[in-house]
Amino acid sequence: MAYKIGVIRGDGIGPEVVTEAVKVLDAIGAKFGHEFNYTEILMGGCSIDATGVPLTDEAIATAQASDAVLMGSIGGNTSTSPWYKLPADKRPEAGLLKLRKSLNLFANLRPAYLYEELKEACPLRDDIIGDGFDMMIMRELTGGLYFGARSTVEEDGQLVARDSLTYSESEIRRIAKRGFDIAMKRRKKVTSVDKANVLDSSRLWRKIVEEVAADYPEVEYEHMLVDNCAMQLVKNPRQFDVILTENMFGDILSDEASMVTGSIGMLSSASLNDTKFGLYEPSGGSAPDIAGQGIANPIATILSAAMMLRYSFDLDAEADAIENAVKKVLADGYRTIDIMPRDGSDVKKVGTVEMGTLIVERL
Ligand code: NAD
Repeated sequence: MAYKIGVIRGDGIGPEVVTEAVKVLDAIGAKFGHEFNYTEILMGGCSIDATGVPLTDEAIATAQASDAVLMGSIGGNTSTSPWYKLPADKRPEAGLLKLRKSLNLFANLRPAYLYEELKEACPLRDDIIGDGFDMMIMRELTGGLYFGARSTVEEDGQLVARDSLTYSESEIRRIAKRGFDIAMKRRKKVTSVDKANVLDSSRLWRKIVEEVAADYPEVEYEHMLVDNCAMQLVKNPRQFDVILTENMFGDILSDEASMVTGSIGMLSSASLNDTKFGLYEPSGGSAPDIAGQGIANPIATILSAAMMLRYSFDLDAEADAIENAVKKVLADGYRTIDIMPRDGSDVKKVGTVEMGTLIVERL
């Protein structure tokens, strides 16, 4: 089959890591008989340099016409780059926010997976890690506290600040459905996280999640309060499969979950809407400190491409092939600079291109 992929190379290490992900996709296409057609999309600092704005209408239209978009990362050094002398709505990150909004990307997925070979990077004790963990944080991305009305006013001689947290039934239902759909592709367990002992929005969240759960009898589900979940993530991360939660809780819990896995260079992510379309990108930024040196870890972007195959194209065997090749390359002792062991154990240090090639060889 043929698939249209929009490609945002972006800034900093973005072009370097995207090139490796495309190399892996091409090898998958050849092996499994698919045609991946790429269209370049300018976004971020490179778009500012070329067009004066971080994202043009034409770029949005190209993204909309794609089956999925693969992205590196955008932005530069926020202290020294001239892009950060521009007004906020003209800076690189404004392009990404505009793209997410234009494509209605309301569901954010961040896997937290601990590789056996990288256990050393995990700050948890061996008995807690056990044989590793593999969870997916599903965060609502376009509602809740970050999008509610806010104000700071003077009342009775002092400043008072207000933020409002609003969720509608339909907003909760669409993300809950996504969460249960993803669980069906995994170990069929959903932990819905809220603060239903205090917040009305969480009580509605719980009610709607229960309604949605009724349509997925094969999926085991539970509710967990967010404070308990924060604790359980470091006490017993192995209990989780899909963690389904609202915007702010997900923001905090996804960072906590990713921290317990180790390197930022390994973490993929996806943002989805209510079609099969998705935007797939590494969780890290454009790493301007190491850009152009050929040393960035391309694995997060390569794993993001695997997520694209799984969630936008339903190509599970192809996604498995990429994930297994990544495991194999680590087992064979190859490491980029960010995942080098501290204890000096015997591994082989490789650069961005070599890591991409080694993964292709193991597909
Ligand atoms: P960063 O994630 O770019 O870098 C943090 C540290 O992690 C750096 O030391 C970097 O070298 C390292 N690192 C990140 N990815 C790596 C990889 N693949 N391989 C090896 N090392 C890697 O975060 P930052 O420095 O805070 O931000 C830099 C720029 O990225 C800023 O302009 C920021 O706004 C932007 N940013 C963009 C996105 C995005 O495009 N979605 C996300 C976060 C940050």
